[in-house]
Amino acid sequence: MYINPDKCVACGNCTYVCPMGAIYVDPATKRSTIDRDECVECFSCYNGLSQEHLNPTLVRGMRKIFSMMRLRFDPEPDVCPTAAFEPDKLEWPRVVRRAFSDPRVPHESTGIEGRGTEEVKTNDISGRVKVGEVGFTIEFGRPGLGTRFYEIEKMSMALAKIGVDFEKKNPVTTLMTDTKTGKIREDILNEKVLSAILEIKVAVSRVEEIINVVHQVEKQVDTVVVLGVGVKCDENGDENVVRPVLERLGYNIERAKTNAGLGRITNKEVAAK
Ligand code: SF4
Ligand code: SF4
Repeated sequence: MYINPDKCVACGNCTYVCPMGAIYVDPATKRSTIDRDECVECFSCYNGLSQEHLNPTLVRGMRKIFSMMRLRFDPEPDVCPTAAFEPDKLEWPRVVRRAFSDPRVPHESTGIEGRGTEEVKTNDISGRVKVGEVGFTIEFGRPGLGTRFYEIEKMSMALAKIGVDFEKKNPVTTLMTDTKTGKIREDILNEKVLSAILEIKVAVSRVEEIINVVHQVEKQVDTVVVLGVGVKCDENGDENVVRPVLERLGYNIERAKTNAGLGRITNKEVAAK
């Protein structure tokens, strides 16, 4: 994203809409500026503010005159008064930032918006996780923090080392050069995104092992890491296989989401049963 300095009148409205705190009013130039290294190309500034097309010279002049009278001339808080935002034409590898950070842009690899994966939220129709298996989602980053792929790679390589299968319909998996080692493409390692998710699936017997590895590596990762666990319920809607393991490890179990199984089954293998 780029702010045209010829148009910006330094009203500061955009500094409040950036989830990464990447926009600041530069006191030297008296213009808003974007820290490109921190910007995750989420387009919240461009899409979140209404654009007015006032003449920048006129607005600056009015602001100056008003300030001399100890008054302020400020636009409405949800407006960029001079339409100063100009999206860059994003090229590889920077385009990866937008793919993971702008929820309205579908991932090329999966066709899904946001982080590009349905995780196990649609397991009732996709049948990703079967009886006796556990699906883990390991989520990196949040608004205000974000994450870089070299942080995610620390986890993917540690998990690959103990022999896990990465979910194929996941955009981070498609960015690995080798799913056997968990190595992520060298040219995107420093790219920053709002958040991204690794997904793996293992046998129930490996739950404790996975949690231990995630717990160890998470300490070396410079962002928030959230671990999600997805399992199939039994015919009574209960889950008594993974729950005891998690409870033994000291977790207080709360169900985040339950799929009722009312959707059209998309997994041919599952539909045939
Ligand atoms: S909202 Fe527009 S005019 Fe105001 S500081 Fe931001 S870019 Fe500049
Ligand atoms: S594109 Fe997103 S991260 Fe970049 S400056 Fe705009 S709001 Fe901030």
